Amino acid sequence: MPRKLAAGNWKMNGTQADLAELAAMAEASDAEGPEVLICPPATLITAAAQAAPAMAIGGQDCHAEPKGAFTGDLSAAQLIDAGATYVILGHSERRDAYEEGSDDVRAKARAAQSAGLTAVICLGESETEREANNTLDIISGQLAGSVPDAATPENTVIAYEPVWAIGTGKVPSLEQIAEVHDFMREKLSQRFGEEAAKNMRLLYGGSVKASNAEGIFAIENVDGALVGGASLKAADFTPIIKALA
Ligand code: PGA
Repeated sequence: MPRKLAAGNWKMNGTQADLAELAAMAEASDAEGPEVLICPPATLITAAAQAAPAMAIGGQDCHAEPKGAFTGDLSAAQLIDAGATYVILGHSERRDAYEEGSDDVRAKARAAQSAGLTAVICLGESETEREANNTLDIISGQLAGSVPDAATPENTVIAYEPVWAIGTGKVPSLEQIAEVHDFMREKLSQRFGEEAAKNMRLLYGGSVKASNAEGIFAIENVDGALVGGASLKAADFTPIIKALA
C-alpha cells in the first residue's frame, strides 16, 4: 500500500501572514503518518518550504516548456528552484478558465516529471456529464489523455475531482467515489501493470472536510485527498490529516 497523501490546494489564497497556519499543520505531520503536501500560491513556495520542512510543498501549475517568452508562467525547474517537489496539473479550474485540454495537461506533466517533480494530475466529470451517465467515459478519456507514458508511482498522483463537487459542499456518495476509484485503478493497471498501478496514489477531491473525511478514506482505492477550502486553516486541515493516519 502506498503512503497516504493529504494534499492542500490553496488556489489564489494566502499571503505571508498565513504561513503561521502551515507551521501549525506541520505539527500534525510526522514520518509515520500520511505525507502532507500544501500547494500555496507560487509567491509563498520558498517561504512555505522553509517554514514547514516536514511537509511537501507544491506549485499549482507549470508550463510545458523549460524556459522562454511566456510572460506570467513558471517552469517546472523554477518551481523546484523555489522549493517545490510537487505540482498540481489539469485542475478543473484551469481546464475550464484556461481551456486546458488533456493534451496540454500531459505535456505539462511530462515537463514536470522530467524536471523531477511529482505531478498531481486532476480529472473529473461535470454535473451534466454525470447526469448523462458519461462519468466513466470522461474519466477514461482524461486518464488516457493526461497521464504520460513515463508515469510511475513516484512521479505521478491522480486526483479524482468531480467538477460539481469542488467548492460546492456537494459530495458524491461513497459508492460513486468507490466506482470511479476502482475504475481508475483498473485502467492504470491495464496500462502500467498491476504493481505500478497499486502503488500510484489516487486522491479524492471536492468538498472534503473533517466531517466527511473518515468515510471517504475508508474506501479501498482512495489513498488520500486533494483539499481546497478546508486546507487553508490548520484547524480545518489537521483533522483531515489525522483521519488519514
Ligand atoms: P474544495 O476544492 O475542497 O474547496 O472543494 C478542491 C479542489 O479544488 O482541489
